[in-house]
Amino acid sequence: MNGRRFLSIGECMVELSQAGDGLLRKGFAGDTFNTAWYARACLGPDWSVDYFTALGDDAMSDEMAAFIAGAGIGTNLIRRIKGKTPGLYMINLKNGERSFSYWRDSSAARSLAADPDLLREAVESADLVYFSGITLAILPQEDAATLLSEIRRAKAAGKLVVFDPNIRPRLWSSYDVMHTTISEGARSSVLVMPSFDDEAAHFGDDSIEATIHRYRALGALNIVVKNGADGVNLNFGGEETFVPAEKVKKVVDTTSAGDSFNGAFLARYLESQDAPAAARFAAGVAARVVSEHGALVAREKLGLSDR
Ligand code: ADP
Repeated sequence: MNGRRFLSIGECMVELSQAGDGLLRKGFAGDTFNTAWYARACLGPDWSVDYFTALGDDAMSDEMAAFIAGAGIGTNLIRRIKGKTPGLYMINLKNGERSFSYWRDSSAARSLAADPDLLREAVESADLVYFSGITLAILPQEDAATLLSEIRRAKAAGKLVVFDPNIRPRLWSSYDVMHTTISEGARSSVLVMPSFDDEAAHFGDDSIEATIHRYRALGALNIVVKNGADGVNLNFGGEETFVPAEKVKKVVDTTSAGDSFNGAFLARYLESQDAPAAARFAAGVAARVVSEHGALVAREKLGLSDR
């Protein structure tokens, strides 16, 4: 294989959003897929980006696989499971407030780690491995353990293992399991990219410093704490930097702000090894993303040529 590979592991879902007059618009999104999308948009041609998940054998699974491939993201590693379907979520709008309904309890992606040989082959073929707390939350506990053991092998082999805790209490059976498994995800990673709001709410951190300290104490060498319009705090090997967010004229939709930041950050970091510069670049991309509707903003609208 020529070039290097960015591998993102998780669940992409069918998205239904309101299109007026009671009509629904269909799309595809999911945290780790969104990050793969932005990494693909920002990385040069010497990097391939692959998505690792499981899909069913229905028409919607075929359509999703075609959509992923159409975005330039590799689908060869995607497992297909007979009789299964993808997960689905719907964005409800009431008086300008968005809420989400999910149908993902029996989605094909829940079995993404059930074939350990395929998982190992995928992880071994990658230079960067990206996963999230949502990836871990949707797996049966023994499959989460399988995934984490592959992730630890990848870290030991010197790969860049990146974890976004993306804490969603509703997906977990208990706070205890959530805390233990997310902490294990961070311990198994080289770079952790949490959102401060989530960490404060669910781990009780009273400052960004507390979040950084907790993840470094677990054994993650590098941390990027995202804090919305207040910017990001980096700690790379003990060296701290603050990078402000870019000013946005009108925030239209913050869906996938963090996912896009992660994808853009990683793309630039892989090419320059300069974390503060990568964060400045990613703040620019995320600012464009929150100025547009939807999770997946087209490459042409990300302003990449002026950066
Ligand atoms: P998450 O979506 O994971 O909660 P954040 O809300 O921290 O993540 O947003 C991630 C990044 O998106 C921020 O670091 C910032 O660069 C950008 N961003 C988010 N909200 C805004 C905003 N209101 N104005 C400008 N940039 C923003």
